[in-house]
Formats: sequence, structure tokens, C-alpha cells
Amino acid sequence: AAKHSGRNMYRHYAPGMKVMTYDRLMLERDIQQAIDREEFHLVYQPKFSSSDMKMTGVEALIRWNHPSRGRISPAEFITVAEQAGLISAIDDWVVHKVCEQVRAWKEKGIELPVSVNISQLHFQQPDFVVSIGQTLNEYGVSPSLIDIEITETSLMQVANEDLLAKLSQLRELGLTLSIDDFGIGYSSLNLLRQFPVDYLKIDQSFVRDHGKLDIVRAIIQLGHSLGMRVVAEGVEVPLELDFLRREKCDEIQGYLLSRPLEPEAVRKHVGKSVNIATLSKTRGEQ
Ligand code: C2E
Ligand code: MG
Ligand code: MG
Ligand code: MG
Repeated sequence: AAKHSGRNMYRHYAPGMKVMTYDRLMLERDIQQAIDREEFHLVYQPKFSSSDMKMTGVEALIRWNHPSRGRISPAEFITVAEQAGLISAIDDWVVHKVCEQVRAWKEKGIELPVSVNISQLHFQQPDFVVSIGQTLNEYGVSPSLIDIEITETSLMQVANEDLLAKLSQLRELGLTLSIDDFGIGYSSLNLLRQFPVDYLKIDQSFVRDHGKLDIVRAIIQLGHSLGMRVVAEGVEVPLELDFLRREKCDEIQGYLLSRPLEPEAVRKHVGKSVNIATLSKTRGEQ
């Protein structure tokens, strides 16, 4: 710990050293309690087929309504949860919740694939595949309705036999797999070929930086040549949508088409095409 020397105390921390602030400790404690106190919930952001503009599925995104701090973004607390060893509890909760929702939709006659973001740390748990299989069974959910999203960065960081085996086992069970945030990690193209993956999700930074649309085009071609479907996320303006449709990007996700929605609101998209002529980016969750 840093020596107290009045106003200059921060000087004693080496650069890059992780500082355990009071705030941070409180956050860890609160994450632990949040599951039991039902402070988390899931919203669902639709994905659309670029050819007919119909919803192809949704991505589950966690939300935390903290009793005193209000909404805290997952970008903030997922990292803390990972570092504090709490991410498995969260990801487990998410998988259960998603299965419950898929079952509820099924009872209303809606069959909708759901993508779930899984932290690499949770994915690496030895019983991950068995446990997800059991949960699907428990809820009577067809494995083909669950897609697992793992980021490119974590796939490439781990990239060992065990990881490859797990990916294959999940697909043998009937689930599909997506590589999330593709393009910002440093993929070995040789490794990428070996991953048994169904979808490549282009990182939003490329889609929204219009100077980088040539990279988007290259990723679409790469994905297709590897036999994957390509999804663009973070699409906010019609120009981006037009470009992606022209380049034959398979699926589109973003505020332009729909914000993440409460489960009841997802139903309005079932069986309908988005009318491109009337798009604005102020739909759903604000
Ligand atoms: P992600 O999986 O890449 O999810 C996409 C993020 O972009 C979401 O932020 C989504 O709300 C946001 N987004 C979607 N369309 C647009 C758009 O058009 N414009 C902009 N500016 N943003 C858009 P969110 O929900 O805050 O999640 C952030 C990240 O937190 C996720 O990135 C994912 O890595 C992580 N995360 C979210 N939910 C979970 C979860 O249940 N488990 C785990 N392990 N991680 C999660
Ligand atoms: Mg994702
Ligand atoms: Mg992403
Ligand atoms: Mg992300």
C-alpha cells in the first residue's frame, strides 16, 4: 500500500499498479449481492437478416439497476466481476434466465434464437459444456436456439486444445457459436480457420468509422470464405445499413434497427420486416 504523505500519497503507486479503491471494493460486494436481490435483468437486442429485414434472433444483454447508484453499465461491472472471480455466477444466472425466456416465448408460439455473451473465464470452467447442456435440458430448450458469443480477443488469447474441444462439443450439442468484436484482436488467420464457428460479428468501431468501411468489406469477404455468416453490430445510420446490404453482410444489429428491448417488446418484430424507409434511431430502451 502507498505510504500516506498527505496530498502527494498517489506518487507512491507504481504506474499501472491496480489500485483497490474503496469504490471498487464496494462494487465487488454489491455484485455478490445483486443476484440474490434480483437487481440484474436481461434486455434483448434483435438482429435482422439484411436480405428481407426480418428478425433472425436476439442478443441477451445484462442490465443492473443498483439500489443507490442507479444503472451501471455492463462494460463497467463485467470487468470488475471477472477480476473478482464473480463472473461465473453472473454468466450462469444469464444462461438460466435466457432459457426461462426462450421457454416463455415458446409457450406463446414464438421460436427465437438467443445469443448469450460468455466471458472467457466462465467458458474455461471444466464443466462449462456439461452444465449448459443440463440447463437446456432442465428448461426443455432446443440447443439450436442458443448461440454463444465469445470475443475474438479472448479466443486468440486462450486458443489451446481445450478451448477448441469445448467449441466442438458445444456444436455437437447443437448450439451455434459467434466470434464477437471481431477485427480489434489480432487473429491468426490460420487459427481462425480451425475454430468451428458459425458467425463472425464485426466490431462496431469499424462499422461506425466510415473511413474504415474497406475493413468491413474485407471482414465480410473473409468470413464468407471461411463459411461463416457475418453480422454487423452498432449500425446507427442508414448509410451504414446501405453499405452493409450492398456488401452482402448477412445480419445487422444496431440502434438504427432496434435498441435492446424488454422481452414483451421483442414480440412486435416477430414475422415483420423493418421498413427501411421509416428508420430512426430512437427505438426501445433509452
Ligand atoms: P457486446 O456483446 O459487443 O454488445 C454490444 C454492445 O453495444 C451492447 O452494450 C449494446 O447495447 C451496444 N449497442 C448495440 N447497438 C448499438 C449501436 O447502434 N450503437 C451503440 N453505440 N451501441 C450499441 P452493453 O449492453 O452496454 O454491453 C457491453 C458489453 O458488456 C457487451 O458487448 C458484452 O461484452 C458485455 N456484456 C453484456 N451483457 C453481458 C452478459 O450477460 N454476460 C457477459 N459476460 N458480458 C456481457
Ligand atoms: Mg455480444
Ligand atoms: Mg460486440
Ligand atoms: Mg464487447
